Amino acid sequence: MQRRQFGSTGNKVPVVGQGTWYDDGQDRPSAILALRRGLDLGLQHIDTAEMYGSGLAEEIVGEAIAGRRDEVFLVSKVLPQNASRGGTIEACERSLGRLRTDRLECYLLHWRGQHPLEDTFAAFDQLQHQGKIACWGVSNFDVADLDEAWTIAGAGQLVCNQVLYHLEERAIEHAVIPWCEKNGVAVVAYSPYGHGHFPGPRSNGGRVLKRIADGHQATPRQVALCFLLRMPGSFAIPKASTPEHCEENAGAGDLKLTKSELDEIDRTFPLGPLPQSLPML
Ligand code: NAP
Repeated sequence: MQRRQFGSTGNKVPVVGQGTWYDDGQDRPSAILALRRGLDLGLQHIDTAEMYGSGLAEEIVGEAIAGRRDEVFLVSKVLPQNASRGGTIEACERSLGRLRTDRLECYLLHWRGQHPLEDTFAAFDQLQHQGKIACWGVSNFDVADLDEAWTIAGAGQLVCNQVLYHLEERAIEHAVIPWCEKNGVAVVAYSPYGHGHFPGPRSNGGRVLKRIADGHQATPRQVALCFLLRMPGSFAIPKASTPEHCEENAGAGDLKLTKSELDEIDRTFPLGPLPQSLPML
């Protein structure tokens, strides 16, 4: 599994990780089994949030990583409505409790809300000084928000921006990725399989992915992840509920596509115009 430096941190993090935004009624034992299989395969970046299942996802992750904490690059997120100075500290402590740990490798503001960024970032700074988080970042931030965050926090404080990115939603390529590359901020692609809407095998895009995949003894999903990971500071966090899906996703971590294959994918799933606001789920 290929690893890359995660933003300005000294951490080398696997390019493919594991999401945990479970649907209601998620089968807990299966979810735990899948997360553990993912860890076996090097999918050590586990992304969760206080929002997912109202804390249930964090509890599942806590159970899955018990006894294996040191293997994990653990990320969680504070909801915007909790992101006041005191509220962020309390939310983080609740997340640590559910995750059965004393620290997060990275803590994110899930999306921008009403609380001033100054307050949220002051709380992140306090949590960092207390050793409860190693670093922090944001999610769903467009370039204007990133500029503001950079000014408030100071250069190099914000280490990643977690954003929607899949073959049929490439809006971040217009300005967010260039901004992050220029400033050494990691781009973490969420919903990299389109949140369950992956191009079908009979669609034109599905056929192109399959043909390219066949040339590498790979799968269309592995090819899709590899395309999303072609920029040097990028990571992807697909969510998988079965060990088999984890195995397929981990297989993308070492795949290499040629320039002409990347160009063909680029033509098949065109970038599209710059939207007025950053798409998010
Ligand atoms: P996704 O990863 O794009 O897609 C998940 C779907 O893909 C599930 O139905 C899953 O099925 C399926 N899948 C995964 N691996 C597969 C494989 N190898 N073969 C076939 N199907 C496969 O969607 P997502 O959950 O929305 O996004 C991933 C993660 O990003 C989330 O879980 C969450 O951690 C994060 N996220 C963050 C934000 C944010 O605002 N920051 C927003 C959305 C998501 P199974 O479950 O059956 O394996």
